[in-house]
Amino acid sequence: MSSTVISRLAPTPSGNLHIGNAFNFLLTYLLVHYHEGLLHLRIDDLDGPRVERSSVEDIFVQLEWLGIDYHYGPSGPDELYSRHSQQLRIDRYHHTIEVLKKSGHLFACECSRSEIRQFSSSTNYPGTCRNKKLDFMKENQAWRVKVPEETIVSCRTLTNQKKNIDLTTKMGDFVIRRRDGLPAYQIASLIDDLEMGVNLVVRGHDLLASTAAQLFLSKCLKDSFFPAAYFVHHQLMKNESGEKLSKSSGDHSLQTLRLKYSSPSVIFQQSAKLLNLPFQDIQTLEDLKEVFLSAMVQNNRLMSLLD
Ligand SMILES: [Zn+2]
Repeated sequence: MSSTVISRLAPTPSGNLHIGNAFNFLLTYLLVHYHEGLLHLRIDDLDGPRVERSSVEDIFVQLEWLGIDYHYGPSGPDELYSRHSQQLRIDRYHHTIEVLKKSGHLFACECSRSEIRQFSSSTNYPGTCRNKKLDFMKENQAWRVKVPEETIVSCRTLTNQKKNIDLTTKMGDFVIRRRDGLPAYQIASLIDDLEMGVNLVVRGHDLLASTAAQLFLSKCLKDSFFPAAYFVHHQLMKNESGEKLSKSSGDHSLQTLRLKYSSPSVIFQQSAKLLNLPFQDIQTLEDLKEVFLSAMVQNNRLMSLLD
């Protein structure tokens, strides 16, 4: 990579973080470290009043426990609320949504969740309101982005390959302004990434469709920066029965693990294991770094795992 690598940790404060979130943070941290890049902490607190302070506090406590430091971002909840919160940037998100609306990319949608379920065979929106030309100013409507048939978006992987994602099938016309009038995650995440100059995005492969949605928005906005970013869509950490972890599953929460184990070494080991790295001797973050860095230098298999 030619320019300085800039990435971010982007936790959502909705419940306590779990070991899967820790894996994402560690991988992001390791990749940034490998590239001698810069790391932001960005807390996705778009939900505002619904965000509980304890969830915000949990993020800082767990990052400190793991030993992950970052170059930019809040050092604690107070600094988040006063300087970094997405609440403070809401006008910018709305401004961009207006730009998209004026350029004809959006439509208003009055469907309820149950109506969408009723008419769609998948979880995707069936396009009910796309041609209704509903008045944008009416209350209690979502605004959606028109995604034409067969929209394939490609993202750039770490090894400079193009990964194609079928946005039409994976997501369809997606919400950009929610029924409650708040900007949706897709636009907030994109605007923040652009403003922070993020050129490396590390996220779970469950967010592949979000990557496609955000790249599609970037194209609608005639932006050329985001399509040049590198994307890593990593495997997800699973529970004992092979299911994706959720913020409600207490056993895997970092809070529980922190009480159970004196050191986070078990988390470092699990993370190394998921990356097919030798994990038995890892005790500290420094050990994990060492194992990861030497694998990046010698081992193309690790790169293909991250692709
Ligand atoms: Zn609709």
